[in-house]
Formats: sequence, structure tokens, C-alpha cells
Amino acid sequence: MEDRYHREINYLRVSVTDRCNLRCRYCMPPHGVSVVPREEILTLEEIVRVVRASTRVGVKKLRLTGGEPLVRRGITELVEALAAIPEIDDLALTTNGILLAARAEQLKAAGLRRVNVSLDTLKPERYSYITRGGRLEAVWRGIEKSLELGLHPVKLNVVVMRGFNDDEICDLARLSLDRPLHVRFIELMPFGTAAGVSREGYIPAAEIRERIEQQFGQLQEVRKLTGSGPARYYHLAGAVGTIGFISAVSDHFCGRCNRLRLTAVGALRPCLFHEYEIDLKGILRRGATLEELAELVARAVQEKPGRHHINRGQPGTGKNMSQIGG
Ligand code: SAM
Ligand code: SF4
Repeated sequence: MEDRYHREINYLRVSVTDRCNLRCRYCMPPHGVSVVPREEILTLEEIVRVVRASTRVGVKKLRLTGGEPLVRRGITELVEALAAIPEIDDLALTTNGILLAARAEQLKAAGLRRVNVSLDTLKPERYSYITRGGRLEAVWRGIEKSLELGLHPVKLNVVVMRGFNDDEICDLARLSLDRPLHVRFIELMPFGTAAGVSREGYIPAAEIRERIEQQFGQLQEVRKLTGSGPARYYHLAGAVGTIGFISAVSDHFCGRCNRLRLTAVGALRPCLFHEYEIDLKGILRRGATLEELAELVARAVQEKPGRHHINRGQPGTGKNMSQIGG
């Protein structure tokens, strides 16, 4: 369905939990975010119902995220139920990768098409520092398994932060050379916990690109990668995989935005950077029909703002990515 700015909105990102097995420094405080009581979180059946209603207004692409989606009990059953909805033609998952090696096979069998794995460093100690205790080796096993199973394209999400991991930009880009890995460099966004570190830590995508080009020469733009949404993709010379930049802060791609977000507590959020949300849980639990739900999804599409202004002083949201569903 088209919004007021003639954008085709066909993509829903679903946060299946606000819980996580890591505490990344730019995403969560050390004690985690105040997780809401379990009964406030949408049940698997409720999520499926919202997705079914969304397909009535043109949603075709889904991504499961969180929090950490793989800590949600029943995630495989959820994937299976969502994959069975005929209108859904792309079903992906964003994960920190810690539990991926153990779950990838079942997820693939259930109908998952592809994965994005978050990986900010290649150094085990640094990984443990950034994530407050995560084991890099487990993530690598998950990435290997995903490649082996053909959960393509396997994309790696790298949040670049000055003083944390910016000395590894070229090493991370090099991962795309001999394997079909798609390394995406993401600008640090000013959310809750990150709002404090973002001023010093933030590096614009143009600078990241410049550093890569200094080392590898000029990048060649690649035409299209499955689910390439807002990122622009490039090849290093001779590379099998690609690298991409998600410059949500410095060069907003709002004109090409095609998404809505469903939070773990059942709110539909038209824009990551605006607090406006439509509560679906209330009417779901009062027994709303699919038509009634679809009307609210259509309203969210119509309320989608034209763009954000976080690079012009608009304050970031007080929530963390894990609460909205990054
Ligand atoms: N737990 C999963 C993971 O880490 O992939 C899924 C949820 S996480 C919130 C989704 C993505 O948001 C991750 O790639 C993470 O690095 C990114 N993220 C979290 N906080 C961010 C911030 N302040 N700025 C930019 N990206 C952020
Ligand atoms: Fe958890 Fe993902 Fe946030 Fe890290 S970025 S704390 S893995 S939700």
C-alpha cells in the first residue's frame, strides 16, 4: 500500500521479544532494559494474526528481530507459521548469532530464507567487551552454519564506533573477499543507551567508505541484492561478497523507506525515529477481526512521517533498539 509520500510500504519488521542474551554497550545498559512482564508480550498466535492482517494492506516481506529473536521460545514454530502465509515472499531474521549454530537447521527447515548476523569485531576479547560477555567463537559457528545451509544472502551488521572498532573497518570489509558474506557498516544511531556514546563514537558512513577506499581502491556499486532496502552495496575488486553502508543518520534514506515495525508489546511503529505508535494489542485481545486490524495497519501506513531529522538536532528516541526492534 502507498503512503502519503508515494512510498510502497510492503515490509514489516517484527520484534518477537525485548529480552536478549547479550548487553551490547551501544544498545543496553549493563543490567539490561526493564523487560516488561511476559503477559505484555504478544503471543506467537497474536504475532501471526497481525502479520496476516498486514498482508491485506500489501506487506510481503518480514524480518524477525528483537531483542534477541533466538531466545524467544517457539521461534521455530513462529517461522513455520509465518512462512506458510502465501502472501509472504521473504522471511529473514536478525540475530546476534550466539544461538544460531544450534538453531539454523530447524529454522531453515521451518521456512527461514536468510539471516543478518551482528558482528562488530573480529577480536574475541573485544567482542566480549562490547557485548559484555559474548563469545565470538559461537557467532562464527553460526555464520559458518548459515553459509553451509544456504541462508543466503548472509549479511553481517557492523555498528562502527570511534575508539571501539574503527581500527577494524578494513579487516571486516576483507571478510567479503573470498566468501559470499555481505558486510554492512551501520552508523551509530542516537538511541537510549547509545545516546551518550553516540556523540564521541559516531562515524559517518562517508568516512568509513573513505577509509576502505584508501586501502582497497575505488568501490564499484552492485546493482541489487535480495532485501537490499536502504543499504547501498559495493564490491571490493575481485570479491565474492559485497560491502554496504547504512547511513541512517548522515544521509537519511527516508525517501526509499518501505517499512513498519511491530514492537514486542504489540505497538505498530511507522518510523524508527518517531515515538508515534498504534497499539494493536488492546484490540487483538478484545477479539478484533482481521479487517479491523488491517484498518489500523493501513492507518500506520498513512501516518508514516516523510522523514526524520536526527541529523538536524531532532533528539533520538529514549528507547533502545532492543525495545523497538532494530
Ligand atoms: N539482537 C539482534 C542483533 O543484535 O542482531 C537483533 C536486534 S538488534 C537491536 C538489531 C541491530 O541493531 C543490530 O545489528 C545492532 O547492532 C543494531 N543496533 C543496536 N543499537 C544500535 C544503535 N544505537 N545504532 C545503530 N545500530 C544499533
Ligand atoms: Fe542484544 Fe542485539 Fe542489543 Fe546486542 S544489539 S544487546 S545482541 S538486542
